[in-house]
Amino acid sequence: MRKKIVAGNWKMNNDSKQTSALLEELLAKRPEKTETKIVVAPTFINLQAAVKQVAGSNIIVAAQNMHQAESGAYTGEISVDMLKGINVNTVILGHSERRAYFGETNSLLAEKVNTALKHNVTIIFCFGEELADRQSGNHFNVVESQLKEGLFHIDENQWANIVLAYEPVWAIGTGETASPEQAQEMHAFIRTLIKDTISEKVAEETSILYGGSVKPNNANEIFSKPDVDGGLIGGAALKADDFLAIVNAI
Ligand code: 13P
Repeated sequence: MRKKIVAGNWKMNNDSKQTSALLEELLAKRPEKTETKIVVAPTFINLQAAVKQVAGSNIIVAAQNMHQAESGAYTGEISVDMLKGINVNTVILGHSERRAYFGETNSLLAEKVNTALKHNVTIIFCFGEELADRQSGNHFNVVESQLKEGLFHIDENQWANIVLAYEPVWAIGTGETASPEQAQEMHAFIRTLIKDTISEKVAEETSILYGGSVKPNNANEIFSKPDVDGGLIGGAALKADDFLAIVNAI
């Protein structure tokens, strides 16, 4: 059985006090016995406190990014060792905002993937087409390139540390979600691509999350699709009740 996962990407929101308050509310209200993995990704500066605060619970803390180099003269950057040193063992890579605003290319992401895997860090690997790609019918090609150029070079046994997150750019923060059918169609395409390129086992075992304006009122329908294994949540992850309603929608 594939893991069900709901991850909150907090982006550049919540200072230290707000981080601690939101985590406190999540800890108080979360389902304790769920099989769904609950992940939150606060900003770098709040990671260490977040890890301490959720220790012993079923909430996993992830980073939103990391640098591809092990260490060195990269002013302002954070390395994989620094994350591991504070017990952060999951990282989001390739988010469309990193691709669009920070120039992250597929080849750069391939380097980040290698560094994370070398250190046994779980990757939530994001990808997805822009509106123009969808309108021109090029969305499957774009997704295939993002996956093949950024991720598919890894060894088959490294896929145990990979979670995929399909996030169509036109659905992020816009209030417009992909329809459950559009999400399912793309997720099925991705699973077939993995089967044809890597192996049937990896295709069956890899969780594929959907992200893009997932809210309490649409989560259930999207998550009910057979190839959708959970969600990567932005705006709705900033309110405990909304986020947990989405967690409970699986
Ligand atoms: P929204 O849920 O705000 O659309 O953001 C999705 C996202 O980018 C999660 O990484």
